[in-house]
Amino acid sequence: LEHRVAMENLTASISRTFLNSKPAVNDATVNEALSTVASFLKVPTAFVSEYSSDASTARLTHSWTAAGERSIANSAAELPIRTVAWWQLQLVHNNLIYIPDGSQLPPEAHQEREFIRSAQVGSILAVPMREGERVAGFIGIEANAPGRTFLVEDASLLRMLASIFRTALSHARSESDKAVLREQLAQSQKMEAVGKLSGGIAHDFNNMLLPIIGYTDMLLETLDDDDERANDLGEIRKAAGRAASLTRQLLAFSRKQVLSKDVFNINDCITNMEAMLRPIIGEDIDFDMSLASESLSVLADIGQIEQVVLNLVVNARDAMPVGGRIKVETGTRVGSDQAIRLIKDIERRENYVFVRVTDEGCGMDTELVAHIFEPFFTTKGLDGTGLGLSVVYGILEQHGGGVQVESEPDQGTAFTVFLPAVAARDVEAHEKAARDTDSPGGNGEHI
Ligand code: ADP
Ligand code: MG
Repeated sequence: LEHRVAMENLTASISRTFLNSKPAVNDATVNEALSTVASFLKVPTAFVSEYSSDASTARLTHSWTAAGERSIANSAAELPIRTVAWWQLQLVHNNLIYIPDGSQLPPEAHQEREFIRSAQVGSILAVPMREGERVAGFIGIEANAPGRTFLVEDASLLRMLASIFRTALSHARSESDKAVLREQLAQSQKMEAVGKLSGGIAHDFNNMLLPIIGYTDMLLETLDDDDERANDLGEIRKAAGRAASLTRQLLAFSRKQVLSKDVFNINDCITNMEAMLRPIIGEDIDFDMSLASESLSVLADIGQIEQVVLNLVVNARDAMPVGGRIKVETGTRVGSDQAIRLIKDIERRENYVFVRVTDEGCGMDTELVAHIFEPFFTTKGLDGTGLGLSVVYGILEQHGGGVQVESEPDQGTAFTVFLPAVAARDVEAHEKAARDTDSPGGNGEHI
């Protein structure tokens, strides 16, 4: 009876931990709960293994191992379920796997025997975590030496815990999925709306600028060379020119620009920009380039990509009024890399080329980062246009790329932009296609 009460207390306390964990259950909470279970049952290891959604593999997602004991985490990280058919049958039909000694397993379980031998599992007890009728994984305990016997009570405790862990885990997963989705959706809807608005305005505005520029030019031509009014008209012309360049940036953001794409090596592009960047950066700031040794081919509008790098470098400079270091790096990343969390989500299956611009400047908090890609958002007062990053965003979106921001107040900022990589074997084909369109084979007519 005493044991029974202790078990119920344990179960209740673990439920409470899961329920009270704010903002949601995370890996650390689960591992902590496993440690409570292991100490209670006096075993060195407790673990949770979860099945993939197609039930093809079992992955050890959580475990706790007592200090100084051998952890099963490495040897049992992922198991194809078809290789442990006997094991799976036990879970489904007996609601239990109990192996006090791996060498005593029946002949049909030879793969399990092999696994237990190679993973150096002593004795093991596990029960299924179910989702309806389906086995969604299992929770278990393990002792390093064979011959450790477990009791019926141990199994019933694990069964009670199985459903608690299952609920906590699926809740944790759906919460974090939801949070990420919500954030991405809000961000892309906001950018979409702002893009439409500013694109529409830019278009109308551009149409109004055309007559201003055109008539000013015509007036300028009618004036004599020594006419003083030429200066005034010149100023009007200059202002209209600046306004036109502003609208071009807005159009870039709202994806209304026509791209002229070529295959090129992004390292060459950046090397060629160096001479232009140095004077912009100024004397007080060190400039480092660390370009990947291999050629990084992308299919992109080179002028636009230069614009992206320029805007990021200028921002990095602005963030360091008293000097520091700007670093420009290039490299490749695989899209499936979970670490890539982007403002604009990219297809995860592709390989990406990245350019990263890092500074040691004032940095930003998350509240600020949430706004920086909006057109006209600036913290620089009249010195800023607030268009630099919205242009970066628009250009990357048009290229099927993305941008990632890592920043800490007073610690500096890293902007990483991603572009889909062109595989080496495709570079030649792209170049050939480009040559072919360059000479369409007409009859010498001109357009
Ligand atoms: P602008 O540079 O004209 O302000 P941007 O769109 O280029 O417009 O940048 C928007 C805002 O994002 C900046 O005003 C600044 O607050 C912030 N920002 C951009 N880059 C950095 C950086 N490297 N470090 C700190 N803050 C930055
Ligand atoms: Mg800027």
